[in-house]
Amino acid sequence: MKILIANLGSTSFKYRLFDLDEAGATLLAEGGFERVEEFTPCIESMLETLQNDGHVAAKEEIEAVGFKTVLGRGLSGCVEADDRVLEALHGFDDVAPAHNPAYAEGIRCFRDALPQARRVALFETAFYQWVEPAAREYAVPRSWRDIGIRRYGFHGASHKYVAERSAELLSEEALAERTRRLYVDGPGHWTGRSLRVISCHLGGSSSVASIKDGVAMGVSMGFSPQSGLPQNNRVGDLDAMAVPYACKALGLSVEEAEKQLASQSGLLGLSEVSNDIRDIRKAAASGDGKAQFALDFLVDSIRHWAGSFFFKMGGADAICFTAGIGENHPEIRAKVCAGLESFGLRIDNERNASLRSGREGYISTDDSTFKALVIPANEELVVAREVYRKLRRQEGAKAPGAPIRN
Ligand code: AMP
Repeated sequence: MKILIANLGSTSFKYRLFDLDEAGATLLAEGGFERVEEFTPCIESMLETLQNDGHVAAKEEIEAVGFKTVLGRGLSGCVEADDRVLEALHGFDDVAPAHNPAYAEGIRCFRDALPQARRVALFETAFYQWVEPAAREYAVPRSWRDIGIRRYGFHGASHKYVAERSAELLSEEALAERTRRLYVDGPGHWTGRSLRVISCHLGGSSSVASIKDGVAMGVSMGFSPQSGLPQNNRVGDLDAMAVPYACKALGLSVEEAEKQLASQSGLLGLSEVSNDIRDIRKAAASGDGKAQFALDFLVDSIRHWAGSFFFKMGGADAICFTAGIGENHPEIRAKVCAGLESFGLRIDNERNASLRSGREGYISTDDSTFKALVIPANEELVVAREVYRKLRRQEGAKAPGAPIRN
């Protein structure tokens, strides 16, 4: 079954095409577009490329399109991407302005461009459905909680992939299988060996998650993707009272404050150089103090969250790095893991520095009892599998029992 996964941003369009069957998933093609103003020409160009390259003979061969939707008001899980999903996305447009309008628009464009294909959404929030209430709520009045103000968490597909893959790499195959099938079987009661993972998704948008035995315990992102770690140009954690104070003191409207927090803050706001870590590192290397401060702030924030999760899980067996920054910046990984030798984690500097872009592997020494790993992001695979399972279930076939791997 050929399934296309669309990864949509406010100015980007990325895709991966998979072929799935009961035995596994094969990545057939991937690509993307930057500085996107409209999705329809991208979809047309993508379909043309897929046909020209022989991945599909006709666009009708694409049986389903999967969307890694971010946040829906009153909706999560893996669901048909129908009007109910559009309504749920628009219900939280203000909470995820860089993501929700883009996904709603993308779903509409695919509905027109590939009308025969099934459309399925896997919400990023789905991975956090088993987080304990105490780690899920905010201490706000009941009326605020009643309108959906709580911690949702994001990057669910990415952290789930890290959970699966880290279990495989640490030779915990039964746990990896449990994690792959989490959305089908639920967490149940795990009686096997315990595995506590701290997963660091560090990219344009970043978060740290804690995962115990394949199930998320918590994540640094809360109500909106503006929270937790400093993002490329979005704020990260901020005391709620700073917003009304800044509005009054600087004479900002709520809309202006929102805009500044969602597009002029984070690493860009701190460095005043760029929202891209490569530019920031270059500036820092040539002596720019603000750029160096932005890097130090990012590392401190990662350690803050990782430390909290380490404590809550009663320790950790592995810390994993994924996404653009996590996969490509050994210095940041080394700084995050510094000084933890007494907890059993020692970075192997040679391994860490020589791990090539896009490769996975250990960066801790062999004798570390708390391992550090790099796992290249593969969120699309997680979405593709769930889409496949959902459609197979709907077709009335037995839900696939075999593990679906890449
Ligand atoms: P992502 O959102 O995962 O695409 O990550 C984007 C961030 O990762 C940006 O700050 C990029 O500068 C950084 N990044 C992505 N790819 C690379 C690379 N190959 N080398 C260095 N930095 C990278």
